[in-house]
Amino acid sequence: MTKDKNQVRIFDTTMRDGEQSPGASMNLEEKLRIAEVLEDLGVHIIEAGFPIASNGDFEAVNEVSKIVRESIVCGLARAGRKDVERAAAALEPAKQKRIHTFIATSPLHMRVKLQMEPDEVHSAVIDSVSRARNYTDDVEWSSEDGTRSDHDFLCRCVESAIKAGATTVNIPDTVGYTMPDEYAALIAMLFNRVPNIDKAVVSVHCHNDLGLAVANSLAALKAGARQVECTINGLGERAGNAAMEEIVMAMRTRKDLLQLESGIHTEKIMRASRLVSQITGFVVQPNKAIVGANAFAHEAGIHQDGVLKDAETYEIMTPESVGLKKSTLVMGKHSGRHAFREKLRELGYDNFGDNALLEAFTRFKELADHKKEIFDEDIIALVDDEIGRASERIGFVSLGINCGSDGPQEATLTLEVDGEKISSTARGNGPVDATFNAIKEIFPHEAELQLYQVHAVTEGTDAQAEVTVRLREDGKLVNGQGAHIDTLVASARAYVHALNKLLVKKRQKSSPAALTA
Ligand code: MN
Repeated sequence: MTKDKNQVRIFDTTMRDGEQSPGASMNLEEKLRIAEVLEDLGVHIIEAGFPIASNGDFEAVNEVSKIVRESIVCGLARAGRKDVERAAAALEPAKQKRIHTFIATSPLHMRVKLQMEPDEVHSAVIDSVSRARNYTDDVEWSSEDGTRSDHDFLCRCVESAIKAGATTVNIPDTVGYTMPDEYAALIAMLFNRVPNIDKAVVSVHCHNDLGLAVANSLAALKAGARQVECTINGLGERAGNAAMEEIVMAMRTRKDLLQLESGIHTEKIMRASRLVSQITGFVVQPNKAIVGANAFAHEAGIHQDGVLKDAETYEIMTPESVGLKKSTLVMGKHSGRHAFREKLRELGYDNFGDNALLEAFTRFKELADHKKEIFDEDIIALVDDEIGRASERIGFVSLGINCGSDGPQEATLTLEVDGEKISSTARGNGPVDATFNAIKEIFPHEAELQLYQVHAVTEGTDAQAEVTVRLREDGKLVNGQGAHIDTLVASARAYVHALNKLLVKKRQKSSPAALTA
């Protein structure tokens, strides 16, 4: 428990609840990158996954546990013995570990989903928390569908969870149903009625089905909650979870009103937002609060005039406070490898191997030949595209395209498969289709294309294209990314990236699990 009564603990669940949103799958290497960025942000607790859900989730929690130094690493578990044991095993290497165990407490969930009587659920709360305490002193208990639970029963479960050793009790609005006043009253009710409530941190976890996740979270904080569960960009099941950047910036901007501290280094928010968006292929809407492309853009003349005279006329927070710097010309074709490495450090890429660095540097030089001005965003896109490529079975080599109004649209592609170069020429309905058909000829597969998305990294017609390709096979979803000044090369790279991820997934057995919390 934290000593300062105004300190709010930020609990990030981007890699657990966030990953549960359809299509937002992340592989191990991507989760490690996100974990690093979250720790750098100053997040107190990182929920890294649901270890029993699949071997991939177990491995992710286990590996994140090995690299995180300052933050508490958390794994989710249902009430059963196996779940708790699996979470404990995954968290074993963590410096500071938390087991987060949950069970539904609403009449509907108990009857339909669990098919358990309230007394049985109550016993399961005590058993699961006590069992988790055998592995760590830091145990969180959640009442799934808490906002639709009977108040007397909720109070009884919360009291027993704390008595059994829970140090955090979380009251989720699992289905995004509550409203700020109602939620604040629920939290206040727990403070009034649960005799041992001061022995635990009260936590909130809100979903955005009615667009109220952040408002509900803030109302609960005002009522005394001191942990808030959230995700970067509001990623999460259905309409998503409460967005961390909005909660944190509301606390910072209206400190006069809330008088709460998050301890988050807000100037690192943009980096985190971009990384999560890039990895999942979930584009941030332009008018999204805090991290949208237009969040700090002033279009109306009268606004522009005001901002030029004094930014505070129309800006309640500065772009710099969320890490939005004006795009700066960083480097050109004459920049050397040393300067390039320094630039990467500045952008937050510390652990870059020599081979990957050389590869990225070669591509940077290529880009500099084609693009006059190279911005930070260009380098980020290029490096993100390069990370992890070296170990892949299929590599992109070259692509030639015939396209235009007269057709036929034709792609001549060379890939390297297990060290062997293979070429093919294929036609299609347009150059993208032709390119993907050529990939299928070289490396036949059954995967189905679920998403193809292009966006420009910077302004101007010579901007790099960043492409996301989502593939599905046997119920497994993967996202691949590629960046290049040529949109079709970026497309081929993104497709190949996704295909490689599917090949890795095939080797890892995973049990399908429809699990929510
Ligand atoms: Mn949730």
